[in-house]
Amino acid sequence: MVDSQDNADGSGTPPSSPLSSLPPSPPSPSPGVKAYQLLKHEIALRRDFISFIDHLFNSKRIAALLGAGLSVPSGIPTFRLDPTKLASEHSMDEENAPVSWQFWADRRRNALEAKPNLAHFALAELAKKKDFLAISQNIDGLCERAGHPSNSLVRFHGCMFHLKCHNALTIHMSVNTKDPIVPALAIKQQEGVNNEIRYDELPICKAPHCRELLRPDVVFYGEAPAEKAVHAADAWYSKDGVDLMLVIGTTAVVRPACDYIDKAMEGGAKVAIINLAARGSGAGEEADGEAAVNAQFAAKADWYFQGDVAAILPALLREVVGSLEDTEEEELAFV
Ligand SMILES: [Zn+2]
Repeated sequence: MVDSQDNADGSGTPPSSPLSSLPPSPPSPSPGVKAYQLLKHEIALRRDFISFIDHLFNSKRIAALLGAGLSVPSGIPTFRLDPTKLASEHSMDEENAPVSWQFWADRRRNALEAKPNLAHFALAELAKKKDFLAISQNIDGLCERAGHPSNSLVRFHGCMFHLKCHNALTIHMSVNTKDPIVPALAIKQQEGVNNEIRYDELPICKAPHCRELLRPDVVFYGEAPAEKAVHAADAWYSKDGVDLMLVIGTTAVVRPACDYIDKAMEGGAKVAIINLAARGSGAGEEADGEAAVNAQFAAKADWYFQGDVAAILPALLREVVGSLEDTEEEELAFV
């Protein structure tokens, strides 16, 4: 609570203070006005919660687009990559692979050390209670570890714990959750890039007669999402309409994953955004293309719940998924 003695007109500031040369701030609302504004905000929020829960209850088919913000409460940072070195088609070239693999080894370790949060568990439970499809842009495996059924989870950008080889004739797929994945990659990247690591010390495909370099089966810049993921999402959408679209922890501007929001809306779905960023943040004259698109999208949503997704999502879904107190992480099982 702001102290009501804290006058905004600067009357408590000595004349010699350098602050006295600043133009006076606009007067703060009185405590009574502030309390009224707070109450109005709380009533609006409660009304939003009630109308959302009512719609959730009556929704037969629910889709969700999941982004990096879902895993931020688990300690997985959101960041943009340097696509030329770390996540492009050339990142696994002989020259770039030692640096690129150090980056991926570090991300894998970070994800393995993290735990699924209550939002991951809430979504996993929702999948057991409703006809629900989650289209995930995350590659950290936390939905899987929260027990999300594999038939209602589409990994649009792949998974860091799936590996594939760069073989021109065929693709060998494998699952690997070892850390370090090879002895040379035991070093942590925050200690700096190790330029001593050689190409032949990196993870190598063990399929008979292959010996090609392995890479994480994730969608690099310039690559299309896995056909399997697109087919699974399209098949689910083609069955019937969508009643509710949840957009969780994502700016919803990365195509083609965000096209599934438009598809749901065309079919009459109501849209709820749950995100740490405030509605309309990044909008305005200064906004770059991405922020402007995001702000336009947010303006069209039926609900916008701002805050920590690990706190908000379980509360929003509670009427359907129940209490999550007894949920436990599942064994690593990446199907
Ligand atoms: Zn191979």
